[in-house]
Amino acid sequence: MSTVADKQTMDFQAEARQLLDLMIHSLYSNKEIFLRELVSNASDACDTLRFEALGKPDLYGDDPDFRIRITFDPEKHTITVSDNGIGMSKEDAVAHLGTIAKSGTQEFLKSLTGDQAKDVRLIGQFGVGFYSSFIVADKVTVVSRKAADSADQGVVWKSDGKGTYSVESVTRPTRGTDVTLHLKKDEKEFLDPYRLRHIIHTYADHIAFPVEMQFEEKDKKDEWETVNRASALWQRPKSEIKDEEYKEFYKHVAHDFEEPLAWLHNRVEGKQSYTTLLYIPGRAPFDLWDRDHPHGLKLYVKRVFIMDDAKHLMPAYLRFVRGLVDSDDLPLNVSRELLQQNKLINSIRSASVKRILNALAKMADKEPEKYATVWTQFGKVIKEGPGEDTVNRDRILKLLRFSSTNSDEQTVSLADYLARMKKDQKYIYYLTSDSLNAAKNSSYLGLFRGKDIEVLLLYDRVDEWMMSHIEEYQDKKFKSIAKGELDLDDLIDEDEQKAREKLASQHTGLVERIKTALNGKIKDVRVSHRLTDAPSCVVLEDHDMSMHLQRMFKSAGHEVPLGKPVLEINIEHPLVLRMEEETDEDRFVDWSQLLLDQAILSEGGELDDPADYVKRLNSLLVDLSDAGSGGRIIVD
Ligand code: ADP
Ligand code: MG
Repeated sequence: MSTVADKQTMDFQAEARQLLDLMIHSLYSNKEIFLRELVSNASDACDTLRFEALGKPDLYGDDPDFRIRITFDPEKHTITVSDNGIGMSKEDAVAHLGTIAKSGTQEFLKSLTGDQAKDVRLIGQFGVGFYSSFIVADKVTVVSRKAADSADQGVVWKSDGKGTYSVESVTRPTRGTDVTLHLKKDEKEFLDPYRLRHIIHTYADHIAFPVEMQFEEKDKKDEWETVNRASALWQRPKSEIKDEEYKEFYKHVAHDFEEPLAWLHNRVEGKQSYTTLLYIPGRAPFDLWDRDHPHGLKLYVKRVFIMDDAKHLMPAYLRFVRGLVDSDDLPLNVSRELLQQNKLINSIRSASVKRILNALAKMADKEPEKYATVWTQFGKVIKEGPGEDTVNRDRILKLLRFSSTNSDEQTVSLADYLARMKKDQKYIYYLTSDSLNAAKNSSYLGLFRGKDIEVLLLYDRVDEWMMSHIEEYQDKKFKSIAKGELDLDDLIDEDEQKAREKLASQHTGLVERIKTALNGKIKDVRVSHRLTDAPSCVVLEDHDMSMHLQRMFKSAGHEVPLGKPVLEINIEHPLVLRMEEETDEDRFVDWSQLLLDQAILSEGGELDDPADYVKRLNSLLVDLSDAGSGGRIIVD
């Protein structure tokens, strides 16, 4: 290899450097994983070339058989992982080895805590990849040439992992990549072929390409021994695959550092034949919230890798599922466009979705603790399901877990709720709010707490949207307790009903006065049946957008037509009773406005004019204290 004198030295992207430091420190106890990452990259590179060569067989040149080779040199203290895959151009090397092209890297780094054990887990979730080389090496040299390029378009990339790297053109007769690690002084174990063979068994048995090593003396240097199984794991019969192999394969396909929670391996024969190997990860990847995030299922056709991120294979609400689909029937030249309305793909997809949903339901039933992890990690994503997948809505509803007035934890299933419903209860009651705390302390709950009627408490961003897509569960309709007039038939008995009506009829004058005082600011004033402790609350009509959702839209910068609320007053509250005695009309307006503002505040809302609220409140307080100290006395 001869270099051209065009060496450039560049700085690592700031994020890359930070990540690198962290990785070296936090992953030291797992240091042999570098080999898994390098072999995994080599395998990806072979996959990519095989795919590109489908339309351009010339790319193979005279080297059609993929292989990954591991060599070491005890004298130079180096270990090299070589592949004859797609290779990298100089631009590729700069783009892929000097920067981290993952969206959300910044946020990821901000989430680091400085607590080693936690950060290790976070780093795993981010995906360690190529940089793990620097755990054991103080210098890394990558020599590569892209398959389509000519011999003089090779590149040498070098770095000590300390902040800069260099790239330089080089002549390289063959395509593919050699990654050479100059091992740190103490890392002798990786210079032992038997130790290496053992690591490869652990980490690379499932890799579909042969990983080769040499064990003989120098005169036989051309003989390579394949040290892994080198067959596509998902094509082997289930009974022959060990759990450990499934787990290792997961780490490779999912670019994850941790073990999966569960997997489903199925072979389908019939009208069409295909294999699916689907994994449920143990932890949400850092970019799960990005609906366009890159990882999804991999698509293979007849064992040939076709593409990552085959979005059409899983709906967005199951985007946390990892693994692959290998079809025997799709054409090898299938394009993303073709996938879109492909009948074969659609049927694979709907079968896979059902498999996942059934597996989750079974897990929820048989292994509730495991399912609790699924819910904590992916519940917010699954909640997109009822809106996105109407066909499977009932299946998805069964998977939902809620907090409720019975449980702070999100563990209540709709079946649990139904089982606890009161005898004549007609609805599944729920409340959406900004947080669990706000929901728990909501004044809307007064009546329900008093009657010991369970209310589901929803406070995730997606909840409001989800609820707009759910009408009923097993013939019971959902009803927001913050909306509409409560249909109390099922909640209170006749005597109580009568007493309430009587009370309301005694205060119609007050209701009218408040309505006049708040003219234009509210839709109506009513005597409330849902309040016990609070003096007032605001209520929307059944089909209004909830105030919580209105706020979310507003904070996202959308103009929302604000529906005017109904003000409900608690006729038994001393403050409200006190108002009946107010003769000064200006003061009465202040009181009324106070009731409205307090209702908005305690619902979690914002006042249009907070300063005005404070002014009114203070002047009322001054009045009251004057009255108390013998100043102004209000006489009936
Ligand atoms: P990931 O594999 O998750 O993409 P890595 O850090 O392992 O992340 O690798 C970064 C990128 O560097 C790869 O996506 C690929 O573009 C490039 N790369 C790494 N190793 C090789 C290789 N052996 N051949 C070709 N490209 C490679
Ligand atoms: Mg990788």
